[in-house]
Amino acid sequence: MKERTKKSYKFARKTTLYITSLLTVCFAIFLVLTNTFNFWALLGFFLITYAISFFIIQYRVERFIYSRVKKIYDDLTLLESASLRKHPITTDMATLTQEIDKFARDKKLEIETLKVREEYRKEFLGNISHELKTPLFTVQGYVLTLLDGAMDDEKIRSKYLERANKGVERLIYIVQDLDMITKLEVGDLSLSIEPFDIVELVEGVFDLLEMKSAKKKITLTFDMNYPNPIMVSADKERIRQVLTNLVVNSIKYGRIKGTTEISIENLIKNKVIVRVTDNGEGIAKANIPRLFERFYRIDKSGSRKEGGSGLGLSIVKHIIEAHDEKIYVESELSVGSEFSFTLEKLK
Ligand code: ADP
Repeated sequence: MKERTKKSYKFARKTTLYITSLLTVCFAIFLVLTNTFNFWALLGFFLITYAISFFIIQYRVERFIYSRVKKIYDDLTLLESASLRKHPITTDMATLTQEIDKFARDKKLEIETLKVREEYRKEFLGNISHELKTPLFTVQGYVLTLLDGAMDDEKIRSKYLERANKGVERLIYIVQDLDMITKLEVGDLSLSIEPFDIVELVEGVFDLLEMKSAKKKITLTFDMNYPNPIMVSADKERIRQVLTNLVVNSIKYGRIKGTTEISIENLIKNKVIVRVTDNGEGIAKANIPRLFERFYRIDKSGSRKEGGSGLGLSIVKHIIEAHDEKIYVESELSVGSEFSFTLEKLK
């Protein structure tokens, strides 16, 4: 396909003017020296020289620039710069420079995005291996001790096997979280939106976590009686996961004999806000902005009382955002935390 060429005459015009002026001055001097000065002859000389030079220069410039510029365009097109091909090829250097500038800027942005992604990938892999190492070594420790003779003692055997099993359970838990977060991050997880009663869902989550909360004597409760169903439209299983993660956290980071309270309020006409409030250890202001990051934990020491994958809140945020809803957190150290999220309400 032949490229269209947008012509620019500025360069030829100016160059021709310089050359013609110079030649005319020389010609005028010649006429004066030979005593044959004639204004009309000089004007004629100027015009003819101007016309001839203009055509030659314009022709040469076009040939020259066109071939070079076309090569640049071709080279850039090879680099898949689709945006360049949309415009006609131009002999105007300013436009070309602009386009190449834009091309360079786009590429720089692309490279920066790739670098960020690469950083993220490295960090992700580093975090995963770090997370998996601890439980793996725990399991290996118990198994090796058993093999070394501890299995002959029946009491120790079952105790160590139980502990090894705990480690395996933790591994499974981490892998499940990883699986979920990967699906969420590649956008693989399609939501199946359906109407359901959020009050009933919360009750289900409370029932499921009753044993866990009982261990710390934490009361799981609603802020008031909800005698009627509150119908919302969302992915029920994902919202169950959100509530589970939030309530599990409120238990993990809650104080002994504390309370986790859930409230469901109308926000605006078609939205409800679900709040999960605890009176646990709370979160320092400085840590709040990073809370939803993958693997972010406030207590980074290996001797954490409460082992999680550090993915819980990250999963929560992904799910809520996939619903185009909002999640909020308010917390004060040693007072407690409140995590809340919005949901689409059904009439
Ligand atoms: P983890 O698996 O460590 O619980 P999360 O993503 O669920 O990971 O939470 C990240 C961090 O946020 C936790 O390590 C904890 O320090 C803090 N956190 C989460 N929920 C609460 C809460 N209800 N009260 C106090 N701190 C919390």
